[in-house]
Amino acid sequence: MSTISIINAVKAAHAAITEARDDIEQLDRAIGDGDHYYNLKRGAETILAMQSELETMPPEAALKGIAMKLMSTIGGASGPLIASFFLGMAKTPGVEQRWNVETVAKMVDAGVDAICKRGKAGLGDKTMLDVLIPVAGTLSAAAAEGWDDHQLREALKRTAETGMTSTRDMLARKGRAAFLGERAVGHVDPGAMSSKVIVQAICDTSSGAA
Ligand code: ADP
Ligand code: MG
Repeated sequence: MSTISIINAVKAAHAAITEARDDIEQLDRAIGDGDHYYNLKRGAETILAMQSELETMPPEAALKGIAMKLMSTIGGASGPLIASFFLGMAKTPGVEQRWNVETVAKMVDAGVDAICKRGKAGLGDKTMLDVLIPVAGTLSAAAAEGWDDHQLREALKRTAETGMTSTRDMLARKGRAAFLGERAVGHVDPGAMSSKVIVQAICDTSSGAA
């Protein structure tokens, strides 16, 4: 059940980045090197090509298998960062039990924390983390306060949008955009844009946390 949810989330992510291709490419051309869309596409397609193998695995092994594969297939800064996200999720206590909002909140929190450690970055650095850290926070709040499913999805979508928009006027402190100084101001971070479209797509398509 849970491994299928991961595959379904990756399918939603793949469709979302395909649809947002122009926006993502434009932003990474403006303040990066233009490959962010391609890196994500390659990552998603690599995972989907493993589908039949993954389906036979419990979630911990599936998440670890995905992380290892991504480490060797996606290029750029984002490859190891996204691989860390999957590895962080794999190591979450409770990942083997039936998932509920609390488990998913813990998994996403562990995954985002692994990105922060790997990239030595945090909130306000103008990266994907400006979307992912608040999204993890919203999930934790939902788990603590028992929000209903609709309330949670709508809140996550708004959180992702706000986080993405917040990067526009930031100076970049990490990644390629950091070399641009003031010239990166006025552009949304490409990783924040891709994270936003992925979070929103997962909220629109998945049929519940478990
Ligand atoms: P590259 O920058 O190597 O070309 P990508 O274009 O695939 O790799 O990814 C760029 C995105 O990665 C940025 O837009 C930013 O969101 C994210 N990023 C870069 N460095 C870091 C970091 N240290 N921590 C978190 N995210 C980062
Ligand atoms: Mg790039």
